[in-house]
Amino acid sequence: SLTAGIVGLPNVGKSTLFNAITKAGAEMANYPFATIDPNVGMVEVPDDRLDRIQELIPADKVVPTTFEFTDIAGIVKGASKGEGLGNKFLENIRQVDAIVHVVRAFDDDNITHVSGKVDPIDDIETINLELGMADLEAVDKRLSKVQRAAKGNDKDAKAELAVLEKIKPVLEAGGAVRTIEFDEEEQKIVKGLFLLTSKPVLYVANIAEDDMADPEASEYFQQIKEYAAKENAEAIAVAAEAEEEIAELDDADKADFLAAEGVEEPGLNRLIRASYKLLGLQTFFTAGGKETKAWTFKAGTKAPQAAGIIHSDFERGFIRAEVMSFTDLDELETPSAVKEAGKLRSEGKEYVMQDGDIVEFRFNV
Ligand code: GDP
Repeated sequence: SLTAGIVGLPNVGKSTLFNAITKAGAEMANYPFATIDPNVGMVEVPDDRLDRIQELIPADKVVPTTFEFTDIAGIVKGASKGEGLGNKFLENIRQVDAIVHVVRAFDDDNITHVSGKVDPIDDIETINLELGMADLEAVDKRLSKVQRAAKGNDKDAKAELAVLEKIKPVLEAGGAVRTIEFDEEEQKIVKGLFLLTSKPVLYVANIAEDDMADPEASEYFQQIKEYAAKENAEAIAVAAEAEEEIAELDDADKADFLAAEGVEEPGLNRLIRASYKLLGLQTFFTAGGKETKAWTFKAGTKAPQAAGIIHSDFERGFIRAEVMSFTDLDELETPSAVKEAGKLRSEGKEYVMQDGDIVEFRFNV
């Protein structure tokens, strides 16, 4: 399954945020693997649509979908040269599918900053430079191999060479591979290179608790947002320390805490949703049986493979999928009204699943 890796300089609040994630996840009833890997935190994906479906098509229970965060400890300046266990960290980043880049955006004289002052852009660039240098090294290595092969009639080598030559100058200028536009063929090649700066990134400003009610007022957050926008990346603000406290509270206390802070929902929920989206994950629902349940699929998944997420038999014996969109159910309020309106669709094996589909699979056993 896909995972988002939490990355950042030391002392910016990564562990605090990861603790908030695992504490929120620890409350999950159905996750028996929670303690297997201490670096992996499982979270439920908060989704209001589940409650609405449950209201309209009641079942015995509601089951949210889940996904994983991976905690990647302390990257430092010099990591790409192997300092501070650098290579291991870079290897760990290579294993994740998206990067959640935590940046310190709070002042606190009691918390040491590795470079002596709070400067979000400088921090971001320190990390991105390490990742970029590691990529440049990988690209150079690859180049020397491919250049030789491309001299002959090797078409694949020629195609890869062109891609590497497109990437190299961007890295040399301190840019990230994710900012380069590639066509479909090129994208396949890039994927095979497993470059760190080609992974999608979400910038998370760890703001002060005082800024929770109005993150936009934080100058640090504004700087981070601006930087992210230039990379076509998203930035969100959370107050990690407060989130860790919130994650430990029961529902009633949680509501009080949030009301006192002047916010509608935990920042963790926004982080989870943004990371889910970053990974290219979407949700379909099953309803009408014992459970109202959310399921995760990768954008672009076709109906039989989606059925296979529930059970391999469903994929093997797939006949068709009866599909209505959440939006239609929400508006028309009953499955029969959706059907009467001609909005209950029978989809075949080429159907590409859409976020918010409510599905019943038909299959042979
Ligand atoms: P890591 O090295 O990035 O994992 O950072 P930690 O999560 O260990 O946090 C470093 C220190 O900063 C700890 O003492 C935290 O309690 C503190 N810290 C984390 N988040 C916040 C925050 O939002 N505000 C303040 N004031 N301190 C924080």
